[in-house]
Amino acid sequence: MSSAAGDSKQIRLVPLGGLGEFGLNALVLESEGRLLLIDAGMLFPPAEMPGVDFIVPDFDYLAERREQLAGIVLTHGHEDHIGALAYALAVAPVPVYGSRLTLGFARKRLQERGVSADLRALQPGSPVAIGPFRVHPIRVAHSVLDSMAFAIETPAGVVMVSGDFKIDPKAPAEERTDVASLSAWGDRGVLLLLADSTNVEHAGMTPGEDTLVPAFEEIVGRTRGRTLVSCFATSIPRMQRVADVAVRHGRPLAFVGRRMVDNTEVALDLGLLRIPSEQCLPAQALEDERARQAVVFVSGSQGEPFSALSLVSVGEHRDLAAGPGDTVVLSARPIPGNERAVSRLIGNLFRLGCDVVHPGTAEVHVSGHGCQGDLLELLRRVRPRYLVPVHGEYRMLAQHVRLAVAAGMPAERVLLAENGDVLRVGASGVAREARVAAGRVLLERGGTSEIEDLVIRDRRHLSFQGVAVPIVVVDRQTGQLESTPEIVTRGIVDTQEANELALEAARLLERAMDERPAHERLDSELTRERVREELRRFFKRRTQRRPVIIPVVMEV
Ligand SMILES: [Zn+2]
Ligand SMILES: [Zn+2]
Repeated sequence: MSSAAGDSKQIRLVPLGGLGEFGLNALVLESEGRLLLIDAGMLFPPAEMPGVDFIVPDFDYLAERREQLAGIVLTHGHEDHIGALAYALAVAPVPVYGSRLTLGFARKRLQERGVSADLRALQPGSPVAIGPFRVHPIRVAHSVLDSMAFAIETPAGVVMVSGDFKIDPKAPAEERTDVASLSAWGDRGVLLLLADSTNVEHAGMTPGEDTLVPAFEEIVGRTRGRTLVSCFATSIPRMQRVADVAVRHGRPLAFVGRRMVDNTEVALDLGLLRIPSEQCLPAQALEDERARQAVVFVSGSQGEPFSALSLVSVGEHRDLAAGPGDTVVLSARPIPGNERAVSRLIGNLFRLGCDVVHPGTAEVHVSGHGCQGDLLELLRRVRPRYLVPVHGEYRMLAQHVRLAVAAGMPAERVLLAENGDVLRVGASGVAREARVAAGRVLLERGGTSEIEDLVIRDRRHLSFQGVAVPIVVVDRQTGQLESTPEIVTRGIVDTQEANELALEAARLLERAMDERPAHERLDSELTRERVREELRRFFKRRTQRRPVIIPVVMEV
């Protein structure tokens, strides 16, 4: 890698999240001492983090430079790009720029947290100056409408950010990627391209949303009862197509689930989702006769435990029931980690007697991210001097590098970077600087209290190893045992065995307590320690487990 030390005009690139993982997209661009934050996304936690409700990037890097932050730009309205906005604004309350729909979604999230913000709408073709950055929004196709790429003019050159995108050349003009703009920027010269890597492992071009219409026509046409369609609550282009199918079949429409209702309200208000109002039913009217053949958008395609569709699947939803004659369409793929929950959901729905259609059985879902063909077309049009793959796990970033090199980019100009890596890029070369802290913050519902890693470790330990609570009653004066110790265990062995084990452990403790040296007897801290140590060894020997041991020593 060539040195850029003598280069006066340079930008710095500091990824705080999203490089080496899915979600948490947050990338800092620095020029002339000013910072621009591109996206502020969150991540829903994996199953092995019990009790964690969501995860946001660690914004310490921004906190230390809050005076220098010029603004935040949002590429689109998915949670992995806007979900941490409230936290970024808490660190530095700067203006936030995004498309109307993106800001509409963001505004709802901020209102829920009681955060006010200076939100400024962007229009494709109308650039804005944010500090030393001149940001040109470019429309791109994605699973949420009003998504944007940015061409950002800096003193060092143009930085292009693809955002999440696919090309989808057959989509209507207001959804389609503006490939002419991409080529025009390529002609002007782009220093650095940051490109989506999500689907780099798939060959060909990502199909367009329109390819789903025949399957929905067929499903709605043959369903005698209701058609429940579950997709992400942000999938406005898909909802538009399904709504059009419903209208063609004379079926009324309804929306169930909080996010589904909120988001469609925003999109309807902005005229980005067009459904005749007489065609829409409120959720409370789903019991009515005319709702018997409704098409209902329901949140919960990922099998989230308390989502509307999960409640429907066990017959516990307040407004909506499903049964024989109804069809449920899962119009989304399970996010890695959710497969089992989704599979259970499908089973429960079949148990109710309804038909279930999912991407494994019909063409009811397409990805919003470009495959290799889309990525190569982006590269061909933009022809950047440098490429940094973003949005994806390390394996995707690495394969994006290979794809670009195979397509003819010089290997030294394709840069593999992870969260916290700092790249300095100028016309004369690239340099890597010392890494910065780029971690994650784990949050409980409400998002006010931060959870320590230690707490998560304890919860995991509890869930894998179980817990034992020995209760020891000693005489305050003599330190002698007052009675045989009692031991309560959970999650170590089955009930029958647990009783025997507890009795055995109690006898062992009784003996150990009696054999204590005199100096230990009157010290409750030493007693507790002794109890813990004896039991730790006992459980290890007898069960090969290391339960959490919480000794209770009562002095009477
Ligand atoms: Zn994304
Ligand atoms: Zn997205």
